[in-house]
Amino acid sequence: MTTEFALLNLHPQLVQAVNDRGYEAPMPIQSAVIPLMLAGHDVIGQAQTGTGKTAAFALPILNNLEPNQPHVQALVLTPTRELALQVAEAMISYGTLSKARVLAVYGGQAYGPQIYQLRQGVDVVVGTPGRLMDLIHRGVLNLSAVRTVVLDEADEMLSMGFVEDIELILAETPAERQTALFSATMPAEIRALANTYMKDPCTIAIKAEQVTVDTIEQRAYWVRRDDKIAALTRLFETEEITSALIFARTRIGTSELATALAARNFPAEVLNGDLSQDAREHTLNRFRQGKTTVLVATDVAARGLDIEGISHVFNFDLPEDAEVYVHRIGRTGRAGRSGVAISLVAPSEKHRLRQIEALLYRKLTFATLPTEAEIMQAREDRLAKQVLMWLQRGRCKQERAIIDRFAAEGYDPIDIATAALKLARLEDKQRPIMPMDETPVMVDRPRAERGRSDRGERPERPERPAAQKFGRALERAEAGSRWAAVSHEEGMVRLSLNTGRQAGIRVNDVVGAIAAHANIPGRVIGKISIQDRFTLVDVPEEFAGQVLAQSGDLRIRKQAIAVQRAQ
Ligand code: AMP
Repeated sequence: MTTEFALLNLHPQLVQAVNDRGYEAPMPIQSAVIPLMLAGHDVIGQAQTGTGKTAAFALPILNNLEPNQPHVQALVLTPTRELALQVAEAMISYGTLSKARVLAVYGGQAYGPQIYQLRQGVDVVVGTPGRLMDLIHRGVLNLSAVRTVVLDEADEMLSMGFVEDIELILAETPAERQTALFSATMPAEIRALANTYMKDPCTIAIKAEQVTVDTIEQRAYWVRRDDKIAALTRLFETEEITSALIFARTRIGTSELATALAARNFPAEVLNGDLSQDAREHTLNRFRQGKTTVLVATDVAARGLDIEGISHVFNFDLPEDAEVYVHRIGRTGRAGRSGVAISLVAPSEKHRLRQIEALLYRKLTFATLPTEAEIMQAREDRLAKQVLMWLQRGRCKQERAIIDRFAAEGYDPIDIATAALKLARLEDKQRPIMPMDETPVMVDRPRAERGRSDRGERPERPERPAAQKFGRALERAEAGSRWAAVSHEEGMVRLSLNTGRQAGIRVNDVVGAIAAHANIPGRVIGKISIQDRFTLVDVPEEFAGQVLAQSGDLRIRKQAIAVQRAQ
């Protein structure tokens, strides 16, 4: 039911196709551009990749195609072969049901198949200017029946020196064509091009979301798909969450997840495309006012959501598109505040992880999920903190009167306090810790060694980057062979902290303390091995001095920690 797409007057087959692709509602540029292009207007769209600009021009083009025409009906010019392929792939997918014939042409590809396909008949050609010119010169690309031309990433094409080619190509198309131009920036040359080649264009500008990930601590956990809900509930126990946004990929996913969380005593509300405008506003207001702490959302439903002070973003699933990851985590860490972005990564999502890391130019830091013992400890710590707060605050007159009554009846004050704590812990007791397979998730093992514990995850044979070999998996793997005093990672220095497992130290404590006290980003911290009495941590060479300078001042769980180079 992609009703909002249907409202754009697109052919039902196209509505179905975008629905099949998982789009719930049009993105702003699509709502703006699609009606204009369907009505035949020329359009200038100032928009970057990630805004949904491809579908904004692709859908009206596909909508207006006439079946079985001998000549090319639409032409999309792109600066690079990657973009040509991406646009063509999107158009093929949107046009599957309407059987649109879309061809990508770009340099470096053999001419034969392109020429063969052009001769067979193609409705839409997507290509780079150079190759399009070649095909025109070879007499195999006839643009005389083109009705729509799109210049995609026009600023890029201009900066790559394609302006003459573009002009020559446009000259091959009918003067009465429709022209759409998309560009992230609008320098004077683009405006000049538009003035010369476009008729009364409507301009649509979509502001790119300003996303900075610098204030966000990004952490990830390897989790078997079946254990993701358990993992999430465990993290809820140990993270200091004031408000959290959980992203799931599908509408159904959001509802199921919220229900599963609520069933485990973690109330969560849903924000997805099924909500009416009123219901959406209502949900958002409750979240804004802190009446709901956890929202489970789809990417589309969370778009434009502008709420400050979200402490945590959880990626229950990694998004298919790396840029979406950046948008998701940009919901936290706003207005200069710090935020935490946590990703639950199943082995089958490894390729998505790689794409995200490639986009960010950094590896995500992998940590170890809290064990049952750590959760019990966290609950106790929380309770103790609250008790201490009331002890210090006083003002418990009525409660005191009750205790006095019991004392007057001869009960021992310690026994009374014990009973009161028992009562205070009832809620925790009603929230059993979800069991999960705590054996390390193996993403590295060769196929032959893979056993049942992977629970049918798609087998993968990844090269797990060193920075991710982190946490319990690693501790176990290295338990027998003591850690070397030097880091095996280039550019990393191994430091030793005089605290360890016996003091109840966890990976998160170490990352948190070093990041906060030594003022270095948590994500740059490398391997951590928590031993009984000490902990080894790898930090980049350039930060080692900063961390060492904090020796004695660094605190983990209120304990002053000495730091030295491992030896
Ligand atoms: P683009 O800016 O065209 O590169 O699109 C960015 C990403 O958004 C692509 O992965 C598209 O598949 C996706 N996308 C485009 N339109 C929608 C929509 N209406 N809903 C959800 N995702 C979309």
